Amino acid sequence: MPEMNTEENHLQYTPERAEQLLQNYRRVLERIRAAEQDHSAVRTEVSAPVQLVTVTKFFPASDAAALLDGGVTLFGENRDQEASAKARELAAYCAQREVQPPHWAFIGQLQTNKAKSVVKYASSVHSVDRPSLADALAKAYANQLSRFEAGEAPAPAAAEHGALTCLVQVSLAEVATAGHAAEGARGGTSASELLELVERIENHEHLRCGGVMAVAPLGMNPDEAFEKLYGLASLVREQVPHATEISAGMSGDLEAAVRWGSTCVRVGSDIMGKRPAL
Ligand SMILES: *Cc1c(COP(=O)(O)O)cnc(C)c1O
Repeated sequence: MPEMNTEENHLQYTPERAEQLLQNYRRVLERIRAAEQDHSAVRTEVSAPVQLVTVTKFFPASDAAALLDGGVTLFGENRDQEASAKARELAAYCAQREVQPPHWAFIGQLQTNKAKSVVKYASSVHSVDRPSLADALAKAYANQLSRFEAGEAPAPAAAEHGALTCLVQVSLAEVATAGHAAEGARGGTSASELLELVERIENHEHLRCGGVMAVAPLGMNPDEAFEKLYGLASLVREQVPHATEISAGMSGDLEAAVRWGSTCVRVGSDIMGKRPAL
Protein backbone atom coordinates (compact mmCIF):
# COMPACT_ATOMS: atom_id res chain seq x y z
CA MET A 1 0.00 0.00 0.00
CA PRO A 2 1.58 3.33 -1.01
CA GLU A 3 0.02 5.07 1.99
CA MET A 4 1.91 2.77 4.36
CA ASN A 5 5.18 3.51 2.63
CA THR A 6 4.65 7.21 3.21
CA GLU A 7 4.09 6.60 6.92
CA GLU A 8 7.16 4.42 7.05
CA ASN A 9 9.37 7.00 5.36
CA HIS A 10 7.95 9.74 7.50
CA LEU A 11 8.96 7.95 10.69
CA GLN A 12 12.58 7.44 9.79
CA TYR A 13 15.07 8.77 12.28
CA THR A 14 18.84 8.90 12.35
CA PRO A 15 20.84 6.67 14.71
CA GLU A 16 22.35 9.85 16.20
CA ARG A 17 18.94 11.27 17.11
CA ALA A 18 17.82 7.94 18.57
CA GLU A 19 20.98 7.69 20.65
CA GLN A 20 20.57 11.25 21.94
CA LEU A 21 16.91 10.71 22.88
CA LEU A 22 17.58 7.42 24.63
CA GLN A 23 20.58 8.82 26.48
CA ASN A 24 18.44 11.75 27.70
CA TYR A 25 15.67 9.32 28.65
CA ARG A 26 18.08 7.15 30.66
CA ARG A 27 19.47 10.24 32.44
CA VAL A 28 15.97 11.28 33.47
CA LEU A 29 15.24 7.74 34.67
CA GLU A 30 18.42 7.87 36.77
CA ARG A 31 17.28 11.18 38.30
CA ILE A 32 13.93 9.58 39.15
CA ARG A 33 15.55 6.46 40.66
CA ALA A 34 17.83 8.70 42.77
CA ALA A 35 14.91 10.89 43.89
CA GLU A 36 13.01 7.76 44.96
CA GLN A 37 15.73 7.16 47.55
CA ASP A 38 15.05 10.53 49.21
CA HIS A 39 12.94 9.70 52.25
CA SER A 40 13.03 13.19 53.78
CA ALA A 41 9.39 13.93 52.93
CA VAL A 42 6.70 11.27 52.31
CA ARG A 43 8.44 8.46 50.43
CA THR A 44 9.42 5.31 52.30
CA GLU A 45 11.23 2.04 51.51
CA VAL A 46 7.98 0.53 50.29
CA SER A 47 6.79 3.39 48.05
CA ALA A 48 6.12 2.24 44.50
CA PRO A 49 8.50 3.16 41.66
CA VAL A 50 7.59 6.37 39.83
CA GLN A 51 6.33 6.19 36.25
CA LEU A 52 7.76 8.41 33.52
CA VAL A 53 5.55 9.96 30.86
CA THR A 54 7.68 11.20 27.96
CA VAL A 55 6.08 14.40 26.69
CA THR A 56 6.59 14.52 22.91
CA LYS A 57 4.70 17.77 22.19
CA PHE A 58 6.25 19.93 19.44
CA PHE A 59 8.48 17.03 18.36
CA PRO A 60 7.85 14.78 15.36
CA ALA A 61 6.35 11.30 15.46
CA SER A 62 9.72 9.99 14.25
CA ASP A 63 11.21 10.98 17.63
CA ALA A 64 8.49 9.02 19.41
CA ALA A 65 9.24 6.08 17.08
CA ALA A 66 12.93 6.22 18.03
CA LEU A 67 12.03 6.14 21.73
CA LEU A 68 9.49 3.37 21.14
CA ASP A 69 12.10 1.25 19.37
CA GLY A 70 14.30 1.82 22.45
CA GLY A 71 11.57 0.41 24.71
CA VAL A 72 9.63 3.54 25.76
CA THR A 73 5.89 2.85 25.85
CA LEU A 74 4.22 5.82 27.57
CA PHE A 75 3.92 9.22 25.90
CA GLY A 76 2.17 12.45 26.81
CA GLU A 77 0.70 15.18 24.61
CA ASN A 78 -1.14 18.38 25.45
CA ARG A 79 -2.99 19.32 22.25
CA ASP A 80 -5.53 17.08 20.56
CA GLN A 81 -4.72 17.95 16.97
CA GLU A 82 -1.05 17.13 17.35
CA ALA A 83 -1.67 14.14 19.61
CA SER A 84 -4.25 12.44 17.39
CA ALA A 85 -2.03 12.74 14.31
CA LYS A 86 1.01 11.42 16.18
CA ALA A 87 -0.91 8.55 17.76
CA ARG A 88 -2.21 7.54 14.32
CA GLU A 89 1.27 7.60 12.82
CA LEU A 90 2.69 5.55 15.67
CA ALA A 91 -0.18 3.06 15.46
CA ALA A 92 0.55 2.52 11.75
CA TYR A 93 4.26 2.22 12.50
CA CYS A 94 3.58 -0.42 15.16
CA ALA A 95 1.11 -2.31 12.98
CA GLN A 96 3.79 -2.67 10.28
CA ARG A 97 6.21 -4.04 12.84
CA GLU A 98 3.60 -6.16 14.56
CA VAL A 99 4.42 -4.62 17.94
CA GLN A 100 2.08 -3.13 20.54
CA PRO A 101 1.33 0.58 20.06
CA PRO A 102 2.38 2.90 22.91
CA HIS A 103 0.08 4.37 25.56
CA TRP A 104 -0.87 8.03 25.32
CA ALA A 105 -1.66 10.25 28.27
CA PHE A 106 -3.50 13.45 27.47
CA ILE A 107 -2.07 16.15 29.77
CA GLY A 108 -3.29 19.52 28.43
CA GLN A 109 -6.29 21.79 28.65
CA LEU A 110 -9.10 20.18 26.75
CA GLN A 111 -12.23 21.59 25.15
CA THR A 112 -15.30 19.38 25.52
CA ASN A 113 -15.74 19.14 21.73
CA LYS A 114 -12.35 17.37 21.52
CA ALA A 115 -13.39 14.55 23.87
CA LYS A 116 -14.61 12.49 20.89
CA SER A 117 -11.16 12.51 19.39
CA VAL A 118 -9.22 12.03 22.63
CA VAL A 119 -10.98 8.80 23.67
CA LYS A 120 -9.82 7.20 20.43
CA TYR A 121 -6.13 7.28 21.37
CA ALA A 122 -5.73 8.25 25.05
CA SER A 123 -5.65 5.67 27.82
CA SER A 124 -5.64 8.40 30.43
CA VAL A 125 -6.50 12.09 30.74
CA HIS A 126 -4.45 13.88 33.43
CA SER A 127 -6.15 17.24 33.02
CA VAL A 128 -9.81 16.80 33.96
CA ASP A 129 -10.57 20.18 35.54
CA ARG A 130 -14.37 20.56 35.40
CA PRO A 131 -17.56 18.47 35.50
CA SER A 132 -18.53 19.27 31.89
CA LEU A 133 -15.27 17.72 30.68
CA ALA A 134 -15.84 14.53 32.70
CA ASP A 135 -19.35 14.31 31.23
CA ALA A 136 -18.07 14.88 27.68
CA LEU A 137 -15.38 12.20 28.06
CA ALA A 138 -17.90 9.70 29.44
CA LYS A 139 -20.29 10.36 26.58
CA ALA A 140 -17.55 10.18 23.95
CA TYR A 141 -16.27 6.91 25.41
CA ALA A 142 -19.76 5.38 25.43
CA ASN A 143 -20.34 6.44 21.81
CA GLN A 144 -17.01 5.06 20.65
CA LEU A 145 -17.69 1.81 22.50
CA SER A 146 -21.12 1.31 20.95
CA ARG A 147 -19.75 2.06 17.48
CA PHE A 148 -17.04 -0.52 18.18
CA GLU A 149 -19.61 -3.08 19.31
CA ALA A 150 -21.56 -2.43 16.11
CA GLY A 151 -18.39 -3.15 14.13
CA GLU A 152 -18.17 0.43 12.86
CA ALA A 153 -15.09 1.77 14.64
CA PRO A 154 -12.07 0.75 16.72
CA ALA A 155 -12.55 0.43 20.49
CA PRO A 156 -11.66 3.41 22.69
CA ALA A 157 -7.94 3.23 23.54
CA ALA A 158 -8.72 2.73 27.23
CA ALA A 159 -11.06 -0.22 26.59
CA GLU A 160 -8.24 -2.67 27.35
CA HIS A 161 -8.34 -1.29 30.92
CA GLY A 162 -12.14 -1.31 31.05
CA ALA A 163 -12.42 2.44 31.68
CA LEU A 164 -10.77 5.76 30.91
CA THR A 165 -8.45 6.80 33.75
CA CYS A 166 -9.09 10.43 34.67
CA LEU A 167 -6.85 12.47 36.96
CA VAL A 168 -8.27 15.65 38.42
CA GLN A 169 -6.04 18.60 37.70
CA VAL A 170 -5.92 20.87 40.73
CA SER A 171 -4.74 24.43 40.93
CA LEU A 172 -2.09 24.94 43.60
CA ALA A 173 -2.03 28.72 43.24
CA GLU A 174 -3.32 30.86 46.07
CA VAL A 175 -6.99 31.74 45.90
CA ALA A 176 -7.69 34.14 43.05
CA THR A 177 -9.12 37.57 43.71
CA ALA A 178 -12.63 37.72 42.28
CA GLY A 179 -12.60 37.87 38.51
CA HIS A 180 -8.85 37.42 38.14
CA ALA A 181 -6.82 34.27 37.72
CA ALA A 182 -4.45 33.74 40.62
CA GLU A 183 -0.95 34.90 39.83
CA GLY A 184 1.15 32.07 38.45
CA ALA A 185 -1.93 29.85 38.03
CA ARG A 186 -1.44 26.98 35.57
CA GLY A 187 -5.03 25.71 35.32
CA GLY A 188 -6.99 23.19 37.34
CA THR A 189 -9.93 22.98 39.69
CA SER A 190 -9.92 24.64 43.09
CA ALA A 191 -9.27 22.52 46.19
CA SER A 192 -12.86 23.16 47.34
CA GLU A 193 -14.34 21.64 44.16
CA LEU A 194 -11.90 18.74 44.00
CA LEU A 195 -13.91 16.07 45.85
CA GLU A 196 -17.08 16.88 43.95
CA LEU A 197 -15.28 16.41 40.66
CA VAL A 198 -13.78 13.11 41.85
CA GLU A 199 -17.30 11.93 42.67
CA ARG A 200 -18.60 13.08 39.30
CA ILE A 201 -15.91 11.04 37.51
CA GLU A 202 -16.51 7.95 39.65
CA ASN A 203 -20.25 8.10 38.93
CA HIS A 204 -19.63 7.64 35.21
CA GLU A 205 -19.62 3.98 34.23
CA HIS A 206 -16.76 4.32 31.75
CA LEU A 207 -14.53 6.65 33.77
CA ARG A 208 -12.32 5.80 36.70
CA CYS A 209 -10.69 8.43 38.89
CA GLY A 210 -7.01 7.57 39.10
CA GLY A 211 -5.97 10.45 41.38
CA VAL A 212 -4.73 14.00 40.94
CA MET A 213 -2.43 16.03 38.74
CA ALA A 214 -0.89 19.47 39.11
CA VAL A 215 1.68 21.83 37.70
CA ALA A 216 3.67 23.82 40.28
CA PRO A 217 2.59 27.48 39.99
CA LEU A 218 5.21 29.85 38.56
CA GLY A 219 7.02 31.59 41.36
CA MET A 220 5.93 29.12 44.06
CA ASN A 221 8.51 26.94 45.80
CA PRO A 222 8.04 23.47 44.25
CA ASP A 223 8.37 21.66 47.59
CA GLU A 224 5.62 23.82 49.02
CA ALA A 225 3.44 23.23 45.96
CA PHE A 226 3.90 19.45 45.93
CA GLU A 227 3.41 19.16 49.68
CA LYS A 228 0.06 20.87 49.22
CA LEU A 229 -0.77 18.48 46.37
CA TYR A 230 0.11 15.51 48.57
CA GLY A 231 -2.40 16.73 51.16
CA LEU A 232 -5.11 17.04 48.53
CA ALA A 233 -4.25 13.62 47.08
CA SER A 234 -4.67 12.11 50.56
CA LEU A 235 -8.18 13.58 50.83
CA VAL A 236 -9.05 12.08 47.45
CA ARG A 237 -7.69 8.69 48.50
CA GLU A 238 -9.85 8.73 51.65
CA GLN A 239 -12.90 9.13 49.46
CA VAL A 240 -11.80 6.79 46.64
CA PRO A 241 -9.18 4.26 47.81
CA HIS A 242 -8.12 3.26 44.28
CA ALA A 243 -7.35 6.90 43.33
CA THR A 244 -3.67 6.62 44.28
CA GLU A 245 -1.95 8.42 41.40
CA ILE A 246 -0.20 11.75 41.81
CA SER A 247 0.92 13.10 38.45
CA ALA A 248 3.46 15.77 39.32
CA GLY A 249 6.92 16.90 38.35
CA MET A 250 8.41 18.03 35.04
CA SER A 251 11.97 18.56 33.76
CA GLY A 252 12.76 21.33 36.25
CA ASP A 253 11.10 20.08 39.42
CA LEU A 254 10.76 16.30 39.28
CA GLU A 255 12.97 15.71 42.35
CA ALA A 256 10.72 17.83 44.57
CA ALA A 257 7.61 16.15 43.14
CA VAL A 258 8.97 12.63 43.75
CA ARG A 259 9.99 13.60 47.28
CA TRP A 260 6.36 14.58 47.90
CA GLY A 261 4.84 11.37 46.65
CA SER A 262 4.51 11.83 42.89
CA THR A 263 3.72 8.49 41.26
CA CYS A 264 4.10 9.78 37.73
CA VAL A 265 6.33 12.52 36.33
CA ARG A 266 5.78 14.18 32.95
CA VAL A 267 9.04 15.12 31.27
CA GLY A 268 9.41 16.87 27.94
CA SER A 269 12.39 19.14 27.34
CA ASP A 270 15.00 17.17 29.31
CA ILE A 271 14.33 14.20 27.01
CA MET A 272 13.33 15.76 23.69
CA GLY A 273 15.45 18.90 23.82
CA LYS A 274 14.50 22.55 23.99
CA ARG A 275 11.06 23.26 22.53
CA PRO A 276 11.03 25.53 19.49
CA ALA A 277 9.91 29.02 20.55
CA LEU A 278 6.24 29.67 19.75
C1 LIG B 1 4.88 20.34 28.47
C2 LIG B 1 4.33 19.78 29.70
C3 LIG B 1 5.12 19.01 30.56
C4 LIG B 1 6.62 18.77 30.32
O1 LIG B 1 7.30 19.93 30.65
P1 LIG B 1 8.92 20.02 30.56
O2 LIG B 1 9.25 21.18 31.39
O3 LIG B 1 9.24 20.21 29.12
O4 LIG B 1 9.46 18.76 31.08
C5 LIG B 1 4.52 18.47 31.68
N1 LIG B 1 3.22 18.67 31.96
C6 LIG B 1 2.42 19.40 31.17
C7 LIG B 1 1.00 19.58 31.53
C8 LIG B 1 2.95 19.98 30.01
O5 LIG B 1 2.15 20.70 29.22
